[in-house]
Amino acid sequence: MTTSAAALIWCFGIVIWTIIRLPHRRRAKRTAVVSDKKSLGEQLALSACIAGLVVIPAVHLVFKTFEFAEFTFYPVQGWIGALAMVTFLSMFHLSHKHLAKNWSVTLEIREGHKLVDTGVYSRIRHPMYTSFWLWGLAQALLIPNWIAGLAGVASVAWLYFSRIENEESLMREQFGADYDAYCSRTFRLVPKIF
Ligand code: SAH
Repeated sequence: MTTSAAALIWCFGIVIWTIIRLPHRRRAKRTAVVSDKKSLGEQLALSACIAGLVVIPAVHLVFKTFEFAEFTFYPVQGWIGALAMVTFLSMFHLSHKHLAKNWSVTLEIREGHKLVDTGVYSRIRHPMYTSFWLWGLAQALLIPNWIAGLAGVASVAWLYFSRIENEESLMREQFGADYDAYCSRTFRLVPKIF
């Protein structure tokens, strides 16, 4: 695989990501919010994700902005990156499908919010965040650049570590013992097999 092919796979992934998310954003606008844990920090972390996962790599691919920070590209990393991209998109799609009208881009409880513990949520508590980590990994492998390639995983780390405790405490306030029981059946990012 060449660097151009790897960059094209990254671009294709971003297009599919946009298409998957579009109907969920539209539906979320129609579903009322009853409570939230939104904050400035949360908004900043979300903006950092858009910058790190979309804007910075796109600008670099078009204008070669960070050419000085390129590292050697080996075809095998392109193939592993492509696999990570496909896995990310599949998990991203499944997590939206199962969360359905309970999904929000930020930390919110919606009207009639239900605790989802089926499908991809039956074994992993935060499959969408697992998919984000895979997205960051795919970017680092497909764009061989210390800045444009690694900006994704850095911004995912910011969002994940600043949000995870708040999100789980929001869920615990809403669902109480049911959420505690759900936590004991699942890990955060990887399947609990036994
Ligand atoms: N952390 C989850 C969901 C991310 S979307 C994941 O990674 O898959 C964020 C929204 O999902 C939050 O507003 C929260 O209210 C909601 N949420 C998180 N886990 C949920 C669950 N198991 N059931 C229902 N809603 C959930």
